[in-house]
Amino acid sequence: MFKLAFRFLALLAAFAVLRYVISMVWKLFGEVFRSPKAPVPARQNVDIQSGGDLKKDPVCGTFVSTTSSLNKTVNGEVVYFCSIACRDKFKMA
Ligand SMILES: [Zn+2]
Repeated sequence: MFKLAFRFLALLAAFAVLRYVISMVWKLFGEVFRSPKAPVPARQNVDIQSGGDLKKDPVCGTFVSTTSSLNKTVNGEVVYFCSIACRDKFKMA
């Protein structure tokens, strides 16, 4: 009887580990698929170091520097983008 309970607990632990591994793999894949084709991360680091106000890219949600990012005036309001790809996407929307 005790052995059976122990086996049940071991099974639960195995499931917990399995779920953890699956969630980690899922997260990893999500990051790979979500990242845009343009090499954006390296540019973002440079932008943050160069200073200036940070504005949110409305397309991908990345914060970009106003001094070195692409921008576009929409209805009298300046909108900032992290990449040409995001600017073009915004145009289409
Ligand atoms: Zn963007």
